[in-house]
Amino acid sequence: MRKSLAVAVVWIAFGPGFVACGDTFTVREDDGQTVTIEARMVGEGRAGIALERSDGRIEVVPQGQILNRHPGADPSPKTGGEILQGLAERFGTENFRSYCESPYAIGLILSQPLPKQYERRADLFLKKGAAFMKTVEKTFGRYADDLKIGISNPRYPLVILVFETDDDFMTYAAKETGGSGLSSGRILGFYSGLSNYLAIRMSECHTFETPLHEAIHQQVFNRGVLQRLAPTPAWFNEGIATGFEGNGDKINGGPLRISPRYSQAAKMAHNVDWDDVVADDKAFRGDVLAGEAYAHAWSIHWFLVTKYRSQYVTYLDVLRQKTPFEEDDAKRRIADFETAFGKSVGQLQGEFPQWLESAAKKQKIALLDTKQPGDIVTQSNLAEVEMNAQSSGLGPMEFRGRMKNISHIRPMSFHVTVETDAGTYAEWFQPNVPPLKIIPLSRQLAHKRMQNGQGGPATTFQVRVRAVVPDSETGQKWQRGLLSVPIFSDWAFEVSHRPSMKWGDGCNPEFFGRASIAGRRPVQPAESLSTLRILQSSDRRPAVACPCVDS
Ligand SMILES: [Zn+2]
Repeated sequence: MRKSLAVAVVWIAFGPGFVACGDTFTVREDDGQTVTIEARMVGEGRAGIALERSDGRIEVVPQGQILNRHPGADPSPKTGGEILQGLAERFGTENFRSYCESPYAIGLILSQPLPKQYERRADLFLKKGAAFMKTVEKTFGRYADDLKIGISNPRYPLVILVFETDDDFMTYAAKETGGSGLSSGRILGFYSGLSNYLAIRMSECHTFETPLHEAIHQQVFNRGVLQRLAPTPAWFNEGIATGFEGNGDKINGGPLRISPRYSQAAKMAHNVDWDDVVADDKAFRGDVLAGEAYAHAWSIHWFLVTKYRSQYVTYLDVLRQKTPFEEDDAKRRIADFETAFGKSVGQLQGEFPQWLESAAKKQKIALLDTKQPGDIVTQSNLAEVEMNAQSSGLGPMEFRGRMKNISHIRPMSFHVTVETDAGTYAEWFQPNVPPLKIIPLSRQLAHKRMQNGQGGPATTFQVRVRAVVPDSETGQKWQRGLLSVPIFSDWAFEVSHRPSMKWGDGCNPEFFGRASIAGRRPVQPAESLSTLRILQSSDRRPAVACPCVDS
């Protein structure tokens, strides 16, 4: 089906107990043409019907555009190979590499054609991705077995798209949200409940943290645990996804283990309560509140699955019954919750600190933040940068560190800058760093002036990375010494104070409604950010320079 059918993502009240069925539909497209399609109807309402296509996509078609409907069997799902073939056509075969290992169909979108000598690396990268997805699948399956949650095999191939460059990823992410100009710059990866695809930056594949988080969402919605586009509370979706933690390509924790990071953040939360996130998802969309909302999501989920295990399974059954676009409200959400657990949300929150304390002792987990001030680790644009800052409080900040080219497939040129809140910066240019190679970043003072920078004493900084293929046009410009001077703006710096974000996750139909509607009017950056999901990630905040410390 062509794109025009996917225009109407709207609020639709579908009746409860809806049973999906396969039919042939004659549809009038937006341009007036008539097409006949086979699809599985997964929801129906006054404004339209939700059609699941043979590749697993869901399209919402206004009722008036359905000219005829002929009952029939469910269309057979496409194979991974067929889906990848279509994606190769979409992205251009020259810049697309893929690998299929059922049920995973993984596509790599290259920034430009790949010289032959790097083909093997691309191939290995894709195979490693598939192996990781298999690990996620096994770990998720073990969790479900442990709790005796029935799961099924995915009906459709699970598509993962990896974008070599952040720019291509951002273009794709912006398009997927209806070209609304959402700030895709801060999105690391996302799973879409509409396309059923997981899309991610290659930069994020280095630590596997974002791929793991998004892959859990994809598992949840494809293995019969929850229904896509159903009104599942965000605290549950994010709680289960944040419950899985990795260590490189290993997964060393499931939702029963304590997360030092999130438990610490939950302790410090003071603007949002469990009541707020159980009642609705607003806190997940607010710039300020989202960090706390994620911390609570982890806390509530961990607390319930460890202390109230059988009630948790009962509650999950209630969520599992919720169908795409079914109506839900705060009253019903709280009733669902309190009926399943037999206590008020507030009472349960009151039990949490003591339960956490004693579990932390048993699991021998320190609940303290061990991060050193002045250190920052950044993954961005195919680089992992470790930077240490020293400041006397008087002169310019001093930086040194190292960086790794985290492209698995080819050498890259890097322009790394450290930008301070005073509008000053330091820079490093590395013309050709082989894949996965680590190089030092020598001592530099942040005394260069950014465009619009005022200068003066600085207290915080952020690391920014630009990366290009060495023999590209920009790469050659850089080699001639033409490096761009970063632009200072209060807004940019304010944004950078926020934790990294994972957008969408396809968990919440409201998100799609907002994204689609927002696409039809200009969106201010600050506003668009509020529709993004945020993952609390203290190590990605700008670091505060450590005063008066000698190296
Ligand atoms: Zn998520």
